[in-house]
Amino acid sequence: MLDGKIALVTGASSGIGRVIANKLAGLGVKVAINYIDIGDIKADAEATVAEIKAAGGEAAAFAADVSSEESVTAMIKEINAELGPVDILVNNAGLTQDTLIMRMKVEQWEKVLDVNLKGAFICTKAVLKGMMKSRYGKIVNIASVVGFSGNAGQANYSASKAGLVGLTKTSAQELASRGIRVNAVAPGFIRTAMTEVLPETVIDAMKAKISLGTLGEPEDVADAVVFLASHESDYITGNTIHVNGGMYM
Ligand code: NAP
Repeated sequence: MLDGKIALVTGASSGIGRVIANKLAGLGVKVAINYIDIGDIKADAEATVAEIKAAGGEAAAFAADVSSEESVTAMIKEINAELGPVDILVNNAGLTQDTLIMRMKVEQWEKVLDVNLKGAFICTKAVLKGMMKSRYGKIVNIASVVGFSGNAGQANYSASKAGLVGLTKTSAQELASRGIRVNAVAPGFIRTAMTEVLPETVIDAMKAKISLGTLGEPEDVADAVVFLASHESDYITGNTIHVNGGMYM
């Protein structure tokens, strides 16, 4: 169904993004694996590309810091040249810098808003030209349950994710006439590096709030993203799918 489409998944060298990239590639999508070129991330991105290729899919890795317009513009140029114009954008790159508001530095606020919210805006803007030309596009923003519920210690993160929901609705309204659908997926508490660092006591307290009683897996989020990227969801735009095991309703 998605054969031959081109997707860009940001922050796809690890966690949820990596699984989304694998699932899209399994459906015949050519996937641009975005990563930020620091530390061992390049190796992780190349490993993601290798596992997709080993399964018979098509992928290539592209470095960019999503919070830098210059960096994203250069990446989109490379993707256009190597794979073609992006049909599916998954704004997945994100980070946390948790602490209570009274201790939170302005730099911690800005860093999280820059990557999680400004990054999605920059990437959306960067792929629009191509999508408008082909009068087709699917954009999926990875929000979070805490953008709806709030969470003590995550003022910056929850604000960025609530902002993503506003960005999703506004871009859906602006772009619908061009055949571009924009939706969000709001994961709950998912087993990845982002949650691995939390102490066991915090994980147990979170589990107690989840109706289904367990953490979600990256696959649970990726399945919702694939649905929103596919034709099966063509009459859905400006919406959010909650993937949280009943943690928040
Ligand atoms: P993850 O493994 O840390 O994935 C986030 C990815 O984004 C990492 O590969 C990270 O690279 C990349 N990234 C960070 N800053 C970037 C930048 N400036 N430019 C490009 N890439 C950048 O965590 P995850 O759990 O899979 O998170 C994926 C998304 O799901 C995030 O948006 C997160 O907020 C959201 N989410 C996760 C959960 C959860 O429970 N895990 C719940 C709700 C929402 P580095 O490794 O270099 O930082």
